[in-house]
Amino acid sequence: MTTPRTRQEAAPPYDKEYCETHDAYFDPLKDEWLESACDDPNCEYCVDRPERPSLVVKIQQSET
Ligand SMILES: [Zn+2]
Repeated sequence: MTTPRTRQEAAPPYDKEYCETHDAYFDPLKDEWLESACDDPNCEYCVDRPERPSLVVKIQQSET
């Protein structure tokens, strides 16, 4: 009998990341969105979403 792996051991540490700007998960290694954009043409999350997650410009807020 082999010892069953836990989920944490089986899964790679970062197989997906979350983009707050576009409210969607993506694969940083393949550079692909894991979620398709919604059908709402007025959706602020999807309207400006680029083809590749790497093209997303991360807005860094620096409030002083
Ligand atoms: Zn949307």
